[in-house]
Amino acid sequence: MTPIVEVRDLHKRFGELDVLKGIDFTVAEGEVVSIIGASGSGKTTLLRCLNLLEEFHQGEVLIGGETIGYSIRRGQRVRIREQEVARQRAMTGMVFQAFNLFPHMSALDNVTLGLTKVRGMPRSEAVELADHWLERVGMLERRDHRPSQLSGGQQQRVAIARAIAMNPKVMLFDEATSALDPERVGEVLETIRSLAQEGMTMVLVTHEMRFARDVSDKVVFMEAGRIAEQGPPQRLFLHPESPRLQAFLKTSS
Ligand code: ADP
Repeated sequence: MTPIVEVRDLHKRFGELDVLKGIDFTVAEGEVVSIIGASGSGKTTLLRCLNLLEEFHQGEVLIGGETIGYSIRRGQRVRIREQEVARQRAMTGMVFQAFNLFPHMSALDNVTLGLTKVRGMPRSEAVELADHWLERVGMLERRDHRPSQLSGGQQQRVAIARAIAMNPKVMLFDEATSALDPERVGEVLETIRSLAQEGMTMVLVTHEMRFARDVSDKVVFMEAGRIAEQGPPQRLFLHPESPRLQAFLKTSS
């Protein structure tokens, strides 16, 4: 079966700095993959490449079997047009550390905006779908609140509803709980966990080691722009092979 995400020999540079130095991994349909590793190892950059928020210079990313970000013309890599970028970006649903909701809009309008503007859905249909997902994340009662009237955990749940309502092939979570007060972390992790249990394909960058161990089918450990080790959580967490991962787990548990 075609993987939902396939990353082949991905390289990314910021100026002189090699941030991703040849990344290979796949995500099958319904799989939950957690990316762990020290700060600065390239986790966020990798996720941003999957969402086309970063250009990459070498290697290939396929979402649902489609190469994203560029096409080959007469043997040359050619960056695709913005309209095409927008279409391909919508194949993945990104949830950011800082929520990134539109502050002047209600929770409901934050969710309907992409549906009406990007998907061209009639407003009534978009509201119905938005209500479904707001209910799913436990935010239906607050659908008319603006972000400033919501807690961080509630804002993040709206952000999850907004991303998932667009029906992406895969959800990408970039440290979705890092900006939350400790007492709000659990409610967001529970939301993510329940979506995972329903079979949503996901890639999570996370510092929540226990959560990664519980929820993931596969864990990817990054070290200085490379994947140092990947495999099932039981193996990585209980029997880490590389000394780097052993050291990392000691400091982060
Ligand atoms: P992680 O998510 O593992 O903490 P990042 O992907 O955020 O790592 O960053 C990896 C490296 O890339 C770091 O050295 C960081 O400083 C650098 N980096 C990230 N974004 C940029 C950028 N926009 N411009 C220059 N350097 C960047």
